[in-house]
Amino acid sequence: MKTTALPKDPGPAAWDAILPPSKHYASLDCAITADWLVIGAGFAGLSAARRLRLLHPKDRVVLLEARRIAEGPVGRNTGFMIDLPHNLTSSDYAGAVEKDRAQAAQNRFAIQFAKEAAADYGFAPDTLVQSGKTNGAATAKGDTHNRDYAHHLSGLNEPHELLDARQMQEMCGTDYYQSGLYTPGTVMLQPALYAREMAKGLALQNIKIFENSAVKALKREGATWKATTSSGTVEAPKVILAVNGHLESFGFFKRRLMHIYLFASMTRALTEAEDKALGGKPVWAITPADPLGSTVRKIRADGGSRIVIRNGFTWSPGRASNPRKPQKFARIHDRTFAARFPQLAEISGPAFEHRWGGLLCLSRNGVSAFGEVDDGLFAAGCQNGLGAARGTLSGILAADLASGETSDHLEVMLAEAAPTLLPPEPLATIGATTAMKWGEFKAGMER
Ligand SMILES: Cc1cc2nc3c(=O)[nH]c(=O)nc-3n(C[C@H](O)[C@H](O)[C@H](O)COP(=O)(O)OP(=O)(O)OC[C@H]3O[C@@H](n4cnc5c(N)ncnc54)[C@H](O)[C@@H]3O)c2cc1C
Repeated sequence: MKTTALPKDPGPAAWDAILPPSKHYASLDCAITADWLVIGAGFAGLSAARRLRLLHPKDRVVLLEARRIAEGPVGRNTGFMIDLPHNLTSSDYAGAVEKDRAQAAQNRFAIQFAKEAAADYGFAPDTLVQSGKTNGAATAKGDTHNRDYAHHLSGLNEPHELLDARQMQEMCGTDYYQSGLYTPGTVMLQPALYAREMAKGLALQNIKIFENSAVKALKREGATWKATTSSGTVEAPKVILAVNGHLESFGFFKRRLMHIYLFASMTRALTEAEDKALGGKPVWAITPADPLGSTVRKIRADGGSRIVIRNGFTWSPGRASNPRKPQKFARIHDRTFAARFPQLAEISGPAFEHRWGGLLCLSRNGVSAFGEVDDGLFAAGCQNGLGAARGTLSGILAADLASGETSDHLEVMLAEAAPTLLPPEPLATIGATTAMKWGEFKAGMER
């Protein structure tokens, strides 16, 4: 089959852009054979490759990535590797108790895998830090969401702490938030550094990584699969498709995946005076009490502190976004920032050094697109916006499934229903666009 769309994420992968130049991996320019082929070097693909190496120390494993390592959505997200259920389509992230318990156990298994990779490969400090996160509430309605969620967490026996407006201000230097809900289990990533460090570790374990090597066709030839890029081919009996929503570009899960671009902006490094005027703690991470509100994060990077703002969705069934779209959201991000940090009035427009978007994938029923989709071909996609943890999980479990391993986590994953079918067009587009716009409108000041 020929792929019908290739990755197109608008704007720079900011987390990668603020790092020093990275090691280049060659692009594929010849015909090779391998025991395993992993396509896509996001959270899922990197994890699948590591898991394959752990299970098959001597096998030949090849990893193909369409873009440079860390330039895809893995280098574009906001870096929350969340342990708790985080249902973007609910009003307060919560779901049914038993399901949420199982999901938290799975997310933690994935987080543990990431931590072990960090220890094994000697990741740079600050790549991955378990600092927890806070759901910030800017409105009475957001506060109610937080309290409902806190109640749900008590039912799950999950540790959490409700913060008042003063504690929120002490943390992030603004009186914008009425309250917060802190949970300790989230690991905060410098996501591009995470991808780079994983790739470096994998390469040292003799996994052959090729970047700028988009797979344009994938077909079965006898006992093997043959992946074709612009200038080379890889043949392998078993392939893991870790391409998230681009599973549909390979002809799988057609009309069952919802493709959405999500947008973010990052300031330049604040001056010392600006940092002082901002106040609060050196780093913090806030998700919105309303799932369609704004994520805001303060990070330390080379050169000083920066603020990252994330909000704004577009429905993109063709998996393509206009390169100018991030600028369209610039106005909204500036407004989000100004409302929270009036003490930094000079930070707007060009003071936001990076504006970008990235593709994510949801299913209507919140499940993954996972499993053996053809003989020897395994899907690890549709992470429902929680790709840092869920992508890691699906990559590990796809490698297990392909290797004949069994585990409780794999059984839970395999027991999930398939992603449900979307309504026919134009109903799907009209319905999704209206739901997103209405959701964002309802999020009000949480946005
Ligand atoms: C602005 C933004 C903020 C976000 N914040 C968070 C967050 O804080 N926490 C969180 O958990 N999630 C977040 N997400 C979502 C998260 O980034 C994704 O869910 C996650 O990246 C999915 O992981 P993955 O490995 O399945 O897919 P991806 O990371 O999308 O990786 C798939 C890879 O496959 C490659 N690929 C696709 N087609 C081909 C092909 N034909 N040939 C070769 N390679 C191919 C792509 O280039 C890509 O690198 C955010 C997303 C965005 C855009």
